[in-house]
Amino acid sequence: MNVGIVQVDGKYPNLALMKSATWYELQGHKVKIFDPLFDKPDLILASKIFDFTPDYQYFPEGVPVIKGGIAYDIKSELPPEIENCCPHYELFGCDHAMGFTTRGCIRKCKFCKVPEKEGHIREVGDIYDFWRGQKQLMLLDNNLTALPEQLERTCKQLTKEKIVTDFSQGLDIRLINADMTKLLSKVRLWKQTHFAFDNVRLESAVRRGIEILTTNGVAHHKLMFYVLIGFDSTPEEDLYRVELLRSLKVDPFVMKFNKDNKYQRNFARWVNHKAVFKTVKWEDYKSAV
Ligand code: SF4
Repeated sequence: MNVGIVQVDGKYPNLALMKSATWYELQGHKVKIFDPLFDKPDLILASKIFDFTPDYQYFPEGVPVIKGGIAYDIKSELPPEIENCCPHYELFGCDHAMGFTTRGCIRKCKFCKVPEKEGHIREVGDIYDFWRGQKQLMLLDNNLTALPEQLERTCKQLTKEKIVTDFSQGLDIRLINADMTKLLSKVRLWKQTHFAFDNVRLESAVRRGIEILTTNGVAHHKLMFYVLIGFDSTPEEDLYRVELLRSLKVDPFVMKFNKDNKYQRNFARWVNHKAVFKTVKWEDYKSAV
């Protein structure tokens, strides 16, 4: 059987599709990225993860399509035999490893789909399930800090293998302690380590966490905080949070809750353009746009 793969959206290679590609190949099928102009597959596997992107327009008539991903169905899950496959990195031209060592989260942030989709946090494996000797690894765990023993095991594996790592989904500043920081500081970082400062009520946790991180071997410039705006904060609180992070010598990165909102777009553009953020005040930027 010929299997066509359609990744509808997302800038990173889709993990579920990469695992599915491996499984179908192992069953003896031919798998390729679907090209609507030239391909006539017997089956299409499609994934869509964002609600705001349009659906794929070129599904061929008469060909069965298996759709997955949270935008199609928040409860969609891979069968265990596919979930346990190593991703098919080659098919997607992906030169780094990607995967989860935990699923779920201990928290229930109202803007986040993880609690509904994945439930409470639990260990699901380790890096050797999906790392195939690549230099870089993107760890997709939602809240590794919530399972300290798993964080320790993962950091020790990453350090031992000298893997350049991106903790891509962020760590929880409320849970950071000195032991975790020492483990994290030994991991070679691909990008800055991300945390979230989603509302002003987290101020004391953010201050405390930055103090712990920077006094235990993680430099200020390696820290970045996502700042969610437009969900349950006022513009004054948004400005307060980014200026507080600036004063604490770490980088803010604004996440817009509503991408169509003009204020949110402008504020995000101001903060996320580092050169502009460093040199132009919000009052001046706001009146110029
Ligand atoms: S801590 Fe992160 S992963 Fe967990 S519910 Fe909140 S936003 Fe989602």
